[in-house]
Amino acid sequence: MTQSHLNLIAGEWCRGADVTRNLNPSDLTDVVGLYAAGEAADVARAAAAAAEAQRAWFEGGSQPRADLLDRIATMIEARATEIGTMLAREEGKILPEAIAETKRAAQIFRFFAGEALRIPGQAVASVRPSVDVEVMREPVGVVGLITPWNFPIAIPAWKIAPALAYGNAVVLKPADLTPGTAHLLAQIIHEAGCPAGVFNLVMGAGSTVGQAIVDDPLIGAVSFTGSVPTGRRIARSAAEHMKKVQLEMGGKNPMVVLDDADLPTAVAACLNGAFFSTGQRCTASSRLIVQAGIHDAFVAELARQAGALRVGAALDSETQIGPVASAAQLDGNLSYVALAAEEGCDVQGGERLNGPTEGYFQRPALFVGATNTMRVAREEIFGPCAAVIKVADFDEALAVANDTEFGLSAGICTASLKHAREFKRRAQAGMVMVNLPTAGVDYHVPFGGRKGSSYGPREQGSYAAEFYTTVKTAYSFAG
Ligand code: NAD
Repeated sequence: MTQSHLNLIAGEWCRGADVTRNLNPSDLTDVVGLYAAGEAADVARAAAAAAEAQRAWFEGGSQPRADLLDRIATMIEARATEIGTMLAREEGKILPEAIAETKRAAQIFRFFAGEALRIPGQAVASVRPSVDVEVMREPVGVVGLITPWNFPIAIPAWKIAPALAYGNAVVLKPADLTPGTAHLLAQIIHEAGCPAGVFNLVMGAGSTVGQAIVDDPLIGAVSFTGSVPTGRRIARSAAEHMKKVQLEMGGKNPMVVLDDADLPTAVAACLNGAFFSTGQRCTASSRLIVQAGIHDAFVAELARQAGALRVGAALDSETQIGPVASAAQLDGNLSYVALAAEEGCDVQGGERLNGPTEGYFQRPALFVGATNTMRVAREEIFGPCAAVIKVADFDEALAVANDTEFGLSAGICTASLKHAREFKRRAQAGMVMVNLPTAGVDYHVPFGGRKGSSYGPREQGSYAAEFYTTVKTAYSFAG
């Protein structure tokens, strides 16, 4: 079988032990390509190459690092349509969203090109005479990056860019469902002149390649984005090896709609938050917590607009909601739709749809009449499904919003400054939105959550330095 897309190890494109067939979820007859599937030995070679290259990469100074990241940003921008088309084809995100995600990746590389020049440190007065104290940041060394399929270029970008900016070397394992976009990114990093071994791509299964990254003694830190069960497993293994670990995981993000909300604003925020990107965002609004006075009008309008969303092939310019990314994800979504009915919800939408091509199409679903104790209101579905929970007042809304094992993003639609302020202060989430969808964030500020959603330091913005650097305190005696 031809292996057309190879792993990048020590600056060389290498075959894997096996291949993965990358399928288009909008059209199952379309094979996007064959991608190398590596094994533990490939990770060992990549980690060794990274360990060898890292010192020179760091000691070469920050200007070459800033220049490389800037060149990568420019090259991504120049190829945004090509990369976005690949993303839409392999993941199912509609083309405008896929191109926007690609451009976001370029912005992230450019931001960290600047951060490479602003690595913070401190000179602190010592408590002892004639002693100077400095607090310096140094790279961790080799970092392993493990990424999910739902943002196949933005998430690799927001891990690779800070890793390289602060002088680390990288071993990236992208999701096996979406290797195509990551492979294009790896090509760009290579063509932009990244020194051999500083960036390595090892595609393949999580259970082999991912686990080997977590277990490799040369890899000092692992940044992972994905599901809670995988994150938990990685945290356990990382603790065993005493590795630094950063986990970004699931969400069951609440969006509160109070009686005084502007109805069109609230409906637009919930439509976007719950259903755009086919609901496959960790920050998706999957619990709509609606005050009784606005409830019926809100549900009627949201259901009308959700029912009118055009579901179809990701590359069709008419499509507003692309397919679900995989058969397993679609099966899971459909089983939650059935469960919502069993649990007593009024289910509106949610059925599988036939398109002009064979794909994983599903109509957005509202589970009206849900309570916060139902499984459909507690478990992350990760599809175009939102539970609607009716509440009496702000206090109940806040209590329901916080009654979850997750804590990534939380939103409120209200005209009340008092309630908006109180929600911002009391929501148990890493990110809070007022009159905005729970999904959709800036790239220069911290991203991450609390409770079961995140573990370890935040990603993005200058906070990324917490994970990608380690602190050294230097004392010197001047005599
Ligand atoms: P997943 O946990 O199945 O896989 C994520 C990555 O981990 C993949 O690359 C996979 O191959 C790898 N992996 C699997 N088993 C592994 C193992 N034993 N050791 C090491 N690596 C392993 O998640 P997914 O289905 O790709 O993504 C969906 C999940 O990601 C959802 O739960 C979603 O909420 C979450 N997510 C979170 C964020 C965030 O920033 N909080 C962003 C996007 C997605």
